[in-house]
Amino acid sequence: MGERFCYRCGISEREGGPLINGLCQICYLRENPVLLIGDEVNTELCQNCGSYKKNGIWVDPKSYDLEELIFEVAENALLESLESSFSDLIREYQIVSPERLDEIQEVPVGTAFVSIEPVSYHIEHFPAIVVYEVRVKARTHRLQMKLHDERKRVTVYVRQTVCPRCQKFLGGYFEAILQVRAEGRPLSREERKEIEKLVEGKVDEIMRKDRMGFIQDTIEKEEGLDFYMGSTSAARKLAQAIRERFGGKISEAYELVGMDRQTSREIYRTSVSIRIPKFRKGDIVRDDRGVVYEVRKVDGKGLELLNLSTGKSEHRDWKTLKRHGVEDIEHELREAMVTSIGRDDVQLMDMQSYETFEIEKPEMELSEGKVYKIVEVNGRRYILGEKKGE
Ligand SMILES: [Zn+2]
Ligand SMILES: [Zn+2]
Repeated sequence: MGERFCYRCGISEREGGPLINGLCQICYLRENPVLLIGDEVNTELCQNCGSYKKNGIWVDPKSYDLEELIFEVAENALLESLESSFSDLIREYQIVSPERLDEIQEVPVGTAFVSIEPVSYHIEHFPAIVVYEVRVKARTHRLQMKLHDERKRVTVYVRQTVCPRCQKFLGGYFEAILQVRAEGRPLSREERKEIEKLVEGKVDEIMRKDRMGFIQDTIEKEEGLDFYMGSTSAARKLAQAIRERFGGKISEAYELVGMDRQTSREIYRTSVSIRIPKFRKGDIVRDDRGVVYEVRKVDGKGLELLNLSTGKSEHRDWKTLKRHGVEDIEHELREAMVTSIGRDDVQLMDMQSYETFEIEKPEMELSEGKVYKIVEVNGRRYILGEKKGE
């Protein structure tokens, strides 16, 4: 058998071999590049919210710092572009740091190790430009004496756009209205404040998963609050969060608002309503047996009631309250000083009229000389608690 020669450059196998598919070692590497990425990669980010497309889906960035954001978007685009930029001889690849790639000497057949490193950039204005050096070490044939070791400069252009979500947001779009009301009364100032704070925090949480969960607008109404929401499911989640805190009932209604011209399907807008209970902390109520209570707490589970005759706390869940409800009762608030404490009775003096009166000793701790809040219901007086402050 005579000596074989590289069909490309003519070198003998003894000098330039072993030959691979008829090519010497150098010509084999040159004729079979593994990194096929182009010189340019184009990508965009939303100028309104900083989101960008990851595998075809708009996602929020990890960082909102403009410099970090641009590198995040550019790197993502480069890595996505790399996925389809290897020769067929590479079956798998792994991204490693440039330092680690430097040290790699041996690579299994069909495998590539890749590093990317920004080498120059300008990010002061758009399009932002980041130039990366991409380096690959790979083996495509077992007879290779040297690894493929290829370097390429790739320029990533980051342009500005407006993502579909922000297009809708900026165009005034909303899908649902969340109405927050109270049963039989307007929402109080404190409730409005607390609800707005609760909603703000909850929306941040929702937006991490549902990018359409934005609040388009908040409308203060005499009876309550209206939140115009980008998504119905976000409106429902907010209603549930409000119910957990305040209790109440959730209901939904749909309104036909138009027709989609492309699909000729009817478009509905959802109204999600949460009606919180009429009772508030501090209310004086009476149950169906005539027992008088002070409302201590209202939440998603029920009412915490202080029985004013016994001084004991009782919890009533909403289910029980549905059957054996409590109702507001007319009452008068006063202040009185404890003048003496007997075995069964307490003597007090009204701080306004100086009238003295006696009541049955409640189970609460009392001290002579202290001023207490008193409530009078149907001519009967109860001690609510110590007067605080001043
Ligand atoms: Zn050759
Ligand atoms: Zn956006």
